[in-house]
Amino acid sequence: MRPDIVAAVTTRLLNFGSGPAMLPTPVLEQVRDEFLDLDGRGMSIVEMSHRSTRFAAIAERTEQRLRSLLEVPESYRVLFVQGGATLQFSAVPLNLAAEDMTASHLVTGHWSRRAAEEAARYCPVEVVADGGPGFETIADPETWRVRPDAAYLAYAANETIHGFEIPFVPLTGGVPVVADMSSTILSRPIDVSQFGVIYFGAQKNLGPAGLTVVVIRGDLLGRARGTTPTLLDYRAIAESGSMLNTPPTFAWYVAGLVLEWIAAEGGLSEMAERAERRAGLLYEAIDSSRLYRNNVDPRYRSRTNVPFGLVDPGLEPQFLEQAAAAGLIGLRGHRSVGGIRASLYNAMPQSGVDTLVEFMADFEERRAGLAEGERP
Ligand SMILES: *Cc1c(COP(=O)(O)O)cnc(C)c1O
Repeated sequence: MRPDIVAAVTTRLLNFGSGPAMLPTPVLEQVRDEFLDLDGRGMSIVEMSHRSTRFAAIAERTEQRLRSLLEVPESYRVLFVQGGATLQFSAVPLNLAAEDMTASHLVTGHWSRRAAEEAARYCPVEVVADGGPGFETIADPETWRVRPDAAYLAYAANETIHGFEIPFVPLTGGVPVVADMSSTILSRPIDVSQFGVIYFGAQKNLGPAGLTVVVIRGDLLGRARGTTPTLLDYRAIAESGSMLNTPPTFAWYVAGLVLEWIAAEGGLSEMAERAERRAGLLYEAIDSSRLYRNNVDPRYRSRTNVPFGLVDPGLEPQFLEQAAAAGLIGLRGHRSVGGIRASLYNAMPQSGVDTLVEFMADFEERRAGLAEGERP
């Protein structure tokens, strides 16, 4: 092998990017080892027919692992689709709301706002509570009123850009709850039976980009409007075993390995503990410093995406540049909000957060030194 390639694959950066994000190294190693020849079949996973018995077994096992980790009830279907979480912003109203039904939405950041805007193309939308424009807090949940005839209540369990996480399931009096869990899925145990639909793109915490998962209560299938594209019709997808057309086979396979890794590491309660520890340390570092700040209401601070600013935003380019030089990458905040953001998904080791926090303290100390006229 070329020596430069050996070097490239043995140096792994600490990638705090929001997605596509870090994957567990043992998973990547297994993918590498199996890539040319998947268990002696003489072909790669990416060359294999999605209709082959070998791929059918991979698909089935991935679904079973997901069901087992999330404890998905029998009456729910798991769909493996494409188009990202963004396409679900359209699929949800098309499948669950007749044209004259109202869709209720919570708006707590960029993604839930986009979901509400997209739904409004298909049916009336009522915003139950809106945390904008700053998205630092939201009205008391006691005041949220979901009309009893609403088609559903949609919200983002975690806002990846604004770092705003709702740590409970909103009460809706029986109206189906639709949750975008793209950046929080598999970071803690959840009670699937409280939801009508849960969807998430794979590239944050499950696997490579290109795969999106929809978990849907069985009785919500078969309600799609007549004009719904077949590829967006939840019942048609379910009936075809998510194989109406060619699925993203590679992403589906890698997702299965990631789920296996999570189970081997101790499952979702272990992932939740790790997430708490990672985020806790970082928020503590931010709150105890004079240079960094995060203004999100502590009740809603995200455990998986921690945005923060520098008191002097003019220092942010320097911060990012020096962080990158120290092997800490992907820290630039989303282009719509700027600032810094550290995404801390399951594959981010605690040592990665320790390193980031050390770097932050060191950067702050050097700035303080400069302010006092010392040499950097
Ligand atoms: C990333 C993200 C999306 C968009 O996902 P795509 O797969 O790129 O469409 C939507 N919602 C949330 C909460 C996200 O984090």
